[in-house]
Amino acid sequence: MCSSGDDHDYVVSGQHIYAGGEQLMVSRRDLLRGGAAAVIAGGAAALFAQAPAGAQAPAAPGPATNAGGVIFWGNNPGGVNPTSILAERQGPTKTSGMKFKALVRYANALTTETLTLLPIHPLHVVIRMQASQTCYSSTGQLNTTNRAQFAAVAGHGGVGIVEEVGRLVKRVKVGDQVMLATTPNCGVCANCLSGRGDLCNTRLPAIPSATMSDNTPVYMTAPPMGPAGYSEIIVSDEDWVVPLFTNVPAVESSVLACVGGTGLGLAMCRFPIEAGSDVAVFGLGPIGMSAVQGARIQGAKTIIGIDPIRYRRDLALKLGATHVLDSNADKGNDLITKIRSLTADPVPAGRRYAGERQAGPTYVLEAVGGTRFPLPPNVESPSDMTGIEPLQQAWTVVRNGGYVRTCSIGHPMGANVSFPGGQWANAGKTHVPGNYAGVQALRDLPRFVRLIESGLFDAKSMVGQVFGSDKMKDAVQVAADRSAITSAIQFS
Ligand SMILES: [Zn+2]
Ligand SMILES: [Zn+2]
Repeated sequence: MCSSGDDHDYVVSGQHIYAGGEQLMVSRRDLLRGGAAAVIAGGAAALFAQAPAGAQAPAAPGPATNAGGVIFWGNNPGGVNPTSILAERQGPTKTSGMKFKALVRYANALTTETLTLLPIHPLHVVIRMQASQTCYSSTGQLNTTNRAQFAAVAGHGGVGIVEEVGRLVKRVKVGDQVMLATTPNCGVCANCLSGRGDLCNTRLPAIPSATMSDNTPVYMTAPPMGPAGYSEIIVSDEDWVVPLFTNVPAVESSVLACVGGTGLGLAMCRFPIEAGSDVAVFGLGPIGMSAVQGARIQGAKTIIGIDPIRYRRDLALKLGATHVLDSNADKGNDLITKIRSLTADPVPAGRRYAGERQAGPTYVLEAVGGTRFPLPPNVESPSDMTGIEPLQQAWTVVRNGGYVRTCSIGHPMGANVSFPGGQWANAGKTHVPGNYAGVQALRDLPRFVRLIESGLFDAKSMVGQVFGSDKMKDAVQVAADRSAITSAIQFS
């Protein structure tokens, strides 16, 4: 997930990674248990171990054994030939050889490196970044205990200006402002055509886009983390890119690339909150905080925000929550009892009436996740570092017939959470998981930007601490510490 409580978004479209026909699943709990770096490194090693011989790329020089390898994103049902993908790379163009700074995770380090751009693929877009958000997903890259087998630019989307496009790119032009989303939305795969762009099987596998000073190839769309973000220049397949056409400051719109979009998606996509309904939001990090705003935008009657961190509860009250609860003060059944009392109909005791409803929210939006790192003394730590207890509470407290929304991949709902009293079968409760919380980037990100323009989504209050491009790692540390609602990197 991405943020505060929102370990959610290993979201990433790379939910399923295929290599040599074998599927690798990455769950958020795996990531929390082993650290993201372990999974990334292991996953990549497995991918390369199984990669067809043709995966070695003449176009990408470098001493590493994986030099020039192709990493498959999503499904590869057609058996894309990796050699042909690399051979499709365009010859040197305007941006080839360009030097720029990026935060790179490689071997046992996360460091700012000067990179050199390789020739782009015809479907690639070169973006000069204006602003990139941080999220809890990206904090996994702070853990460098495990060796990363390939070099990848860190980050999770952002906003920038198109510097160059490959000759087959149709979606954007040079000079456009674009959002690099957390998930692709190709518009032509079966999932996109079925209204499930959040599960897009994007067409192009990841190929290296740049090299380090020693010629080590560097990836910018690296599974399972999704798009990069912490770099002056990002190269992306056009499927991940959405044109914006807005005057909203980039540092504000960039919030939508991952955390803000995910939170709004919980409230507005797939099973949108109905006006007048009761909502509980577990976890008030940037995803949960955006979900609170989404619930307000949808016209919810009661919006209960739950988080152990005081400043986050205070901000939630400002941004739309009608009530807040401290999950360190009200634990277990006490929390459930309080939520039920806040969502009970105000009728005289003992009175039965037409339209009578069960207490409890109709929508529970879960954005808690787990806690990877110890928090600083001035930030309240959750009593449950795993994030599993809130999942149980979410399922228990939701009204019969209601919806529990979660936003991580490989979510343990059903595996790690028990459903007492036969609720699963008889109570009509629905668990709605969703990559990027069901957001379809091309459809939803432009309308979310309109919500900022109209003042309905307060993006300004979502921008916590802003760092220059010389402090990219510090920005990620703020996300890990939860010392501000978000952090962002401003490149210009
Ligand atoms: Zn993210
Ligand atoms: Zn698609």
